[in-house]
Amino acid sequence: MSEEKNQNEIEEVTNEDEHKDVEHYCYLCRRPESVAGKMLELPNNIFICTDCMQRTLNSMGNGQFGFIDARNMDLDSMDITKMMNDMQSMQPKAEVKKKKKDKKEEPEFTLKDIPAPHQIKAMLDEYVIGQDYAKKVMSVAVYNHYKRVVTNTMDEIEIDKSNMLMIGPTGSGKTYLVKTLARLLKVPLAITDATSLTEAGYIGDDVESVLSKLLQAADNDVDRAEHGIVFIDEIDKIAKKQNTNSRDVSGESVQQGLLKLLEGAEVEVPVGATSKNAMVPLTTINTRNILFICGGAFPNLEGIIKKRLMKKTSIGFGADLKDCFDEEENIIAQDLREYGFIPEFIGRLPMIFTLEGLTKEMLVKILKEPKNAILKQYQKLLELDEVKLEFDEGALEAIAEQALKKKTGARALRAIIEKFMLDIMYEIPKDDTIGSVTITRDYIENHGNPEIHLRDQ
Ligand code: ADP
Repeated sequence: MSEEKNQNEIEEVTNEDEHKDVEHYCYLCRRPESVAGKMLELPNNIFICTDCMQRTLNSMGNGQFGFIDARNMDLDSMDITKMMNDMQSMQPKAEVKKKKKDKKEEPEFTLKDIPAPHQIKAMLDEYVIGQDYAKKVMSVAVYNHYKRVVTNTMDEIEIDKSNMLMIGPTGSGKTYLVKTLARLLKVPLAITDATSLTEAGYIGDDVESVLSKLLQAADNDVDRAEHGIVFIDEIDKIAKKQNTNSRDVSGESVQQGLLKLLEGAEVEVPVGATSKNAMVPLTTINTRNILFICGGAFPNLEGIIKKRLMKKTSIGFGADLKDCFDEEENIIAQDLREYGFIPEFIGRLPMIFTLEGLTKEMLVKILKEPKNAILKQYQKLLELDEVKLEFDEGALEAIAEQALKKKTGARALRAIIEKFMLDIMYEIPKDDTIGSVTITRDYIENHGNPEIHLRDQ
């Protein structure tokens, strides 16, 4: 009996010795003990080097733990559980409002609250000039989407999500339309740029980061976020890279990654940060009721469409007619596939529509007509000094002509106006005899001064 016990003891000792001889690898950076130095042992045979430990401490506390030098810690005598508890109590807590599970789910809207499509369009008309077709499609899509969300009764006839893809030149109002829509509907909105997205594990943001932004926009309220809108701009930049042999981590892989979000899935999302790491709390967001809107300029799409049209006419008249008939429905989807989008991705964006490039007349209207038009803003500012500001038609046209040359759509307008208004905003408050100022074409084209009228004494 005692011999057996001895034997056991000997085996235990040899095991322990072997354990000591084995080289440990850091769980985070994978460096061996011989390179990274002494390691901290965590439960379940996990080892962490002091460098990674320091990095974690720094990132966790946003500098709060900066004063702790992990390299000077006595790793052997450390009480891990106590340390973890201490760290948790020091960590700034990102607050996540709890999902109201037990309570009967109260929808944000009721069916009566959702404005009808014509009302949504009328509201958009107050802010966005032109783009009638886009406004109409969006109003109907948003109306249907929220009706589906609110009633939640369509289990037997699952209505598809109305995710959208907007194609339109830069500065034509894509982002502005979505922002206005979200504001009018009082739903949280996250705007992201597809260029910053990469496949998980590569430098850049994971696709889930779009949901973190939405959660932020909803003040960490998961319920509100689940009814929000995500706008992914520059979507044309994640087209499949042509002629490349390397892994396409920012193109096709991102499309693949977005598939599950677009369709509806439960996704684990870090709270208060855009990337997952061990120390950031996670929460689950269901994307089923989140409306995804993608937008992009698709600069070469026109070329692809032209090529397709040329091909058709060369086939012959009869064939042409047949082709048109067969393909009518999916024709733009096919062009997008050629552009570098996988069919599954396009399939999850059922509403595809285009925005028109802005003309001179539209730019003039953008200057003066929307509720928050740039001119109205300046007029209001000068009104506070009791000065009346006017622009004659020629001046507005001259500004629009200059903006057209910049080829950045309506985005150029503000920069141009600001340049001309600088002197006016500087000079006018100096002289309180001035009653009104009229900006003329000559002033915009640098051959004259604005017309100034003095106050009636
Ligand atoms: P993009 O199409 O590149 O997303 P934006 O929507 O960001 O362009 O437009 C830039 C700015 O130009 C907006 O903030 C808005 O003030 C103005 N703008 C663009 N298009 C319109 C429009 N159709 N009506 C009114 N303002 C517009």
